[in-house]
Amino acid sequence: MARVYNFSAGPASLPTAVLEIAQNEMLDYRGTGMSVMEMSHRSDVYQEIFNNAKNNLRLLMQVPTEYEILFLQGGASMQFAMTALNLIGTTGKADYIDTGLWSKKAIEEARRYGNIRVVASSADKAYAYIPSLDQLTFSPDAAYVHITTNNTIYGTTYSTLPDTGSIPLVADMSSNILAQQYDVTQFGLIYAGAQKNMGPSGLTVVIIRKDLLGHALDFTPFMMNYEFHAKADSMYNTPPTYAIYIAGLIYNWMLERGGVVAIEQINRTKATHLYHFLDQSSLFRSTVEGTDRSIMNIPFVTGNPAMDDKFITAATAAGFVNLKGHRSVGGMRASLYNAISLQAVEALVEFMETFEKENLQHV
Ligand code: PMP
Repeated sequence: MARVYNFSAGPASLPTAVLEIAQNEMLDYRGTGMSVMEMSHRSDVYQEIFNNAKNNLRLLMQVPTEYEILFLQGGASMQFAMTALNLIGTTGKADYIDTGLWSKKAIEEARRYGNIRVVASSADKAYAYIPSLDQLTFSPDAAYVHITTNNTIYGTTYSTLPDTGSIPLVADMSSNILAQQYDVTQFGLIYAGAQKNMGPSGLTVVIIRKDLLGHALDFTPFMMNYEFHAKADSMYNTPPTYAIYIAGLIYNWMLERGGVVAIEQINRTKATHLYHFLDQSSLFRSTVEGTDRSIMNIPFVTGNPAMDDKFITAATAAGFVNLKGHRSVGGMRASLYNAISLQAVEALVEFMETFEKENLQHV
């Protein structure tokens, strides 16, 4: 069996150990004689899978009881609408920080439902940094403030969270949920598509402070109303049963490895190793400076698109795949999600060193 080094930004590499468990349980889940895919979501055996997944996520992120955990569908993109539809009602106004394509999409969608103010943007430098937060002032009547904690395309991340006072902070955490510790109580709502650190696509996790439930705009579709999903414990309709099962296996895998604290440490070591190489390289360079650097998504360039292409081709042939940067920025990007081992990053850096030696004279 050949498993490549898969640096995809998402859907992304999953722990081999988890895939093996799923493989072993594929035809007969623990003596039930059926696959998890074939089970009623109302059955006792599935309910146990569901409860374990939810409880373990609560444990991993230390989610207090004042917060509801929802397992939904529709991707993070559906949350761009759901957050606004459910939360903006109180004042009809919300503040957003624009740190790239995904923030912009969230802003465009929210504008359909209320008065949106973009309080800061890093568009002036191609989103290669996080705007300074010290001078940020939020609208006193904003129903919430929206941020994207980690910007998958540009490789930027907030080193500190904005202080929004009593205004609920809403975060798109799609590309760094469970990668580093966050204090959930600093947020009113967190959402994330599962397909980077939590499993296959098709599952979207929402963590919402319970007092924010029940304020949806009148015309909010039932399926987009958090309150309905919360009351039904995410079974208002058929949930993404198999994706939740895989997420549950990943939560177990993380707990067995010491949880988010231990995984964050490994993630920082992985990222530091690659940044350290990039910072001394004569061929490659990182596109993000200083404290705004993501530990999950690391874009880099040679400055020469033909050389970038040559590198991507050579890397792919050597088994380092999905290193092409997002189509909107070009260059390369290595996504180092939780399932990527330190050994994989070391192998990548070694390959880059060799490529540099062989190609430097041709730049
Ligand atoms: N937000 C961020 C930060 C993302 O990285 C992505 C997808 N890569 C999305 C939102 C959109 O997610 P989805 O495809 O699940 O709608």
